[in-house]
Amino acid sequence: MPVKWLMLTSVVVAAAEIAGAQTSDMVRYTVRFPDPQTHYASVEAVLPTAGKSEVEVFMPVWTPGSYLVREYARNLESIAVSDPAGKPLAFSKSRKNRWRVETAGAPEIRFSYRVYCREMSVRTNWVEDSFALLNGAPTFVTLVGGIKLAHDVRLELPPLWKTTMTGLPDAPDGQPHHYLAPDYDTLVDSPILAGNPAVYKFEVAGIPHFLVNEGESGVWDGPRSAADAEKIVRRNLKMWGSLPYKKYVFLNMITEAGGGLEHRNSVCMMTSRWATRTRQGYLGWLNLIAHEYFHAWNVKRLRPVELGPFDYENENPTRSLWVAEGITDYYAPLTVRRAGLSDTQEYLGTENPPAPGSLSTVIAALQSTPGRLFQSAEQASYDAWIKLYRPDENSVNTTISYYTKGAVVGWLLDARIRHATGGTKSLDDLMRLAFSEYSGDHGFTPDQFKTAAEKVAGVPLRDFFHRAVESTEELDYSEALDWFGLRFKQDGQSAAPAKPKAWLGAETRIDNGRLIVRTVPRETPGYETGLSVDDEIIAIDDFRVRADQLAQRLENYKPGDKVSILVARRDRLMRISLTLGEEPKRWQLEIRPDATDAQKRNLESWLM
Ligand SMILES: [Zn+2]
Repeated sequence: MPVKWLMLTSVVVAAAEIAGAQTSDMVRYTVRFPDPQTHYASVEAVLPTAGKSEVEVFMPVWTPGSYLVREYARNLESIAVSDPAGKPLAFSKSRKNRWRVETAGAPEIRFSYRVYCREMSVRTNWVEDSFALLNGAPTFVTLVGGIKLAHDVRLELPPLWKTTMTGLPDAPDGQPHHYLAPDYDTLVDSPILAGNPAVYKFEVAGIPHFLVNEGESGVWDGPRSAADAEKIVRRNLKMWGSLPYKKYVFLNMITEAGGGLEHRNSVCMMTSRWATRTRQGYLGWLNLIAHEYFHAWNVKRLRPVELGPFDYENENPTRSLWVAEGITDYYAPLTVRRAGLSDTQEYLGTENPPAPGSLSTVIAALQSTPGRLFQSAEQASYDAWIKLYRPDENSVNTTISYYTKGAVVGWLLDARIRHATGGTKSLDDLMRLAFSEYSGDHGFTPDQFKTAAEKVAGVPLRDFFHRAVESTEELDYSEALDWFGLRFKQDGQSAAPAKPKAWLGAETRIDNGRLIVRTVPRETPGYETGLSVDDEIIAIDDFRVRADQLAQRLENYKPGDKVSILVARRDRLMRISLTLGEEPKRWQLEIRPDATDAQKRNLESWLM
């Protein structure tokens, strides 16, 4: 059982490998929170000049793992530069995220600034009266050309804050809240939480793990979440054979936000405090932690060749995010299932409604997105920076998420390998092989990953990969369904055949009591008759439809009925004639009642 960790001691980790660094050739930061309620952190960076008359200092524009240029320099203010004695030095802005400093011969410069920290997300900063979450990229400037230097961080906490937690190695002096990163990449890769979180420590394979819960509030079930985090770690150990780090920190921000961002030996996640109170909410959290933790292998070590060394000032596109994120998303609920934290029905999504993150919901999301026919998984990966991270009302028509499609392709690839090898090999073997061959400094190219897959499967897979990730062809589910003894539920196979439902096709939102069209997917009645995003639906056949009544009203119609829809478009009333369609089939898996013993064995060996 995990025990609540007493924060009176500090653990010295990996200090030896960087203890040789001299302070004169490292970057040293002091971070203070003089008025945390104003959401500011004060940072003083001491940067070595190596005797140069001029140095340039930069701030990253993005953070690895979150593929969008976010312009972190926009949150900096009150910048001042001096020599070690405090004499001001001349400096000027040389780019949107760079400053050029005249050193006047000083051996080091003191570059100080304040950072506004009030964006509650896993890739940005938050400071308030009771805690601070700092990410490296939006917090720490460094020298242009200086990312290989050691980076030392000392935090001075407000009196009531007792704890800092991070994946960073402790500094050799063993002082609390003092850390030493061997290089800037490690600093950027290690978010820091300061405050008074609940900390649960457990050991797996002799390696310490910490679940750090900020904001339990007497609502979140800390011991249960720590016990289940440990089960997820143990199940990964079983799959991969060893753990690739010396400590691991789960920063679990219970802040009514969402998302997760992976790091080499830590993760930052955000969740609702109510997530341990419902099965749906808890499964969502288990899937999140399983996803982020899987990244300790897939993407943080086994990585696409383009994702390292990072260019912190420009986009770093890659065609392989369907591997990095999609296959990770395939394994997340699968690991939860294999760890015994969900059952087969929940994993497959055979119940009504299907469980969150289930295989059925992922397949349904893919097959109900028209953009799957316009963007391949590799194109979706490459354009993450300008498409997935910059969605608009038409994204559903032109793009597909590499998470969604990559997860489904992961399943089909798993089935392909199992079928081709008579069940002796699986995607697990491919991930282990790829990890052993490409987890070093270099990373894998798209071609190398596909070649590794062929090596494991023992058959050519070029046609498979062309169809699945290089083209926009529809996926073929027949092999996977057949191997595992599954099928998609068909209308009419249940005892009471479902009545076909009338369907508009457009998706709506409620805005101040008004019913507004949110998206109009292709090949739907709404798309074909010119219903537009932002139209306000007022009436069907001249009868008022209140904002929450659309689904209920449509139940009074059947597919093929002609209706007149009264909408307001930029305040002008207009009628649109439309023939209602039939709600498309739900893609939901079920286990074949006539599954053979071989199929039952295949299902069992996949899910255990
Ligand atoms: Zn991810």
